[in-house]
Amino acid sequence: MPGGAPDRVDVVVIGAGAAGMAAAALCAAEGLSVVLIEKTASVGGTTATSGGMVWAPEDIAAARAYLDQVIGQGIGAEDPGGRRESFLAHAAAAMAALAARTELRLQPVARYPDYYPDLPGATLGGRVLEPVPFDGRALGRHFALLRPPIPEFTPFGGMMIARADLAHFRKFTRSPRSAMIVARRLAAYAWQRLTRPRGTTLVLGNALAGRLLLSLLRLGVDLRLETPATKLIFAEGRVQGVVAGGKTLSARRGVVLASGGFSHDPALRAALLPAPARRFSAAFAGDSGDGIRLARAIGAAFERRGADAAFWAPVSSFTRDDGSVAIFPHTVTDRGKPGSLVVDERGRRFVNEALSYHEFVRAMLGAGMARAFLICDHAFLRRYGLGPIAPIFPRPRRWIRRGYLTAAGDSAELARALGLDPATLAATIAGFNEDAGRGEDRAFGRGGDAYQRHLGDPERRPNPCLAPLTTPPFYAIILYPADLGTSAGLATDASGRVLDAAGLPIGGLYAAGNDMQSVMDGAYPGPGITLGPALTFAYLVCRTLCENDGHNK
Ligand SMILES: Cc1cc2nc3c(=O)[nH]c(=O)nc-3n(C[C@H](O)[C@H](O)[C@H](O)COP(=O)(O)OP(=O)(O)OC[C@H]3O[C@@H](n4cnc5c(N)ncnc54)[C@H](O)[C@@H]3O)c2cc1C
Repeated sequence: MPGGAPDRVDVVVIGAGAAGMAAAALCAAEGLSVVLIEKTASVGGTTATSGGMVWAPEDIAAARAYLDQVIGQGIGAEDPGGRRESFLAHAAAAMAALAARTELRLQPVARYPDYYPDLPGATLGGRVLEPVPFDGRALGRHFALLRPPIPEFTPFGGMMIARADLAHFRKFTRSPRSAMIVARRLAAYAWQRLTRPRGTTLVLGNALAGRLLLSLLRLGVDLRLETPATKLIFAEGRVQGVVAGGKTLSARRGVVLASGGFSHDPALRAALLPAPARRFSAAFAGDSGDGIRLARAIGAAFERRGADAAFWAPVSSFTRDDGSVAIFPHTVTDRGKPGSLVVDERGRRFVNEALSYHEFVRAMLGAGMARAFLICDHAFLRRYGLGPIAPIFPRPRRWIRRGYLTAAGDSAELARALGLDPATLAATIAGFNEDAGRGEDRAFGRGGDAYQRHLGDPERRPNPCLAPLTTPPFYAIILYPADLGTSAGLATDASGRVLDAAGLPIGGLYAAGNDMQSVMDGAYPGPGITLGPALTFAYLVCRTLCENDGHNK
């Protein structure tokens, strides 16, 4: 056993993402002594770079009906151990507990449709919550510990843009009201940058992670960075603690696994993800399957339920000026906007581009595709941008030089540059343009439901998702299938207790977040369906730990 006197606390939590920080904060608020260990030098994990949306239904019957439909599309709509039901039953209480006992503040998003809005039980808004913007200065010197968002989402070297402000930034040259709002945001940002290395008005996942970090600080959680968990100590039929950073940490009540799933575990990727989806992940590199591996080593059961073992998003990739590799997730900013389309290697459309990112990649994987081409015209690029390319002043030549963007004067030239058949691509664009002009996508029904239209452009009539591509130059980028988190994971019961192969709880071992098999079983019903369950199971685990009055004493 590694040297040094063992630290002895009530609870050891592994991983400082949404699940781990929420579990640690809630346990500390209940008076338990908590050590939170984090492998890297910063907190936040994938959570810090996420959209921060939290799916937390209040109308349980409607949400249940909806999930039965969506998850039933995969295999196995059944609910082992009552986990999904437990999520539904406790999501609202979990959010209330977090609001009462921690610094986490969430507010309902009035309009954000579920991803299959025509199914029974779906909602058009209110079911998903978002973090209330957070002033990072409240963290004092600890602000530096918070993992920043990816640079491509923070223009001007570190400014976060709230979901509701995006439209203003896209049209500030056309709308005096938007210009005013943008000017105000820029002035605030410039002021913040006088004293800080990045903007301190935090929104989305960074606000969520920042608020949880503030909770840890205020509640006295012992946070240990650069302390990877390397082993679970299992004795007398229970998990007694963790070996981390060369030290033994004893946990009187239990250990919580919240290390973010297996997005960067090559072995599990190879075993569980289809070959075309193994190359790229939009999740944090620290999420490398550690919790799952440690638990399996002491007999925990791993589950891979449902149609997919991961949550999908198409990504594009390029090398930044500093040599790092950027992975840009194309979730909501460009695919559904009017004036773009996506084709396969043959130059044909294969999917409704405005479907959810999960469904979009499902279509790619269903067709065995390792890449696709997102094509737009110059008018589109200026109005909406493309991936990391900003609207209004897109500077395409810079992105062409980087090898990220392909440009051409007409569709034939574009096809040749991409290695596609010019006649096929010309026919695809001509057919698309004809339908787009009428506002009806006969081939794939783009813009056909409230979710798709929500991601379109409300100023575009009659169909907010459709416009012809008519203004050269034409541009293309390559999209790859990728995950933004994993769905398969450790088997748990309805309270987050990790189960063994016989289906029995392993004493003292809990999981939350992407370390546990998702209650969504690889389906993606709506915005926030990983963070909603992550926070809810953090709450359930805490409740169980409080009831478990020191079995490990
Ligand atoms: C671009 C993007 C947008 C997204 N938007 C949303 C959204 O709006 N809503 C939503 O619900 N989901 C969203 N997701 C998915 C969501 O971000 C993740 O599913 C979620 O953050 C996972 O939370 P977690 O707590 O399980 O893991 P993480 O937040 O990744 O945290 C895990 C932490 O554990 C640490 N760790 C790993 N191994 C060890 C070890 N051995 N010892 C100690 N620490 C360890 C890691 O370093 C990391 O800090 C998005 C994902 C991406 C990529």
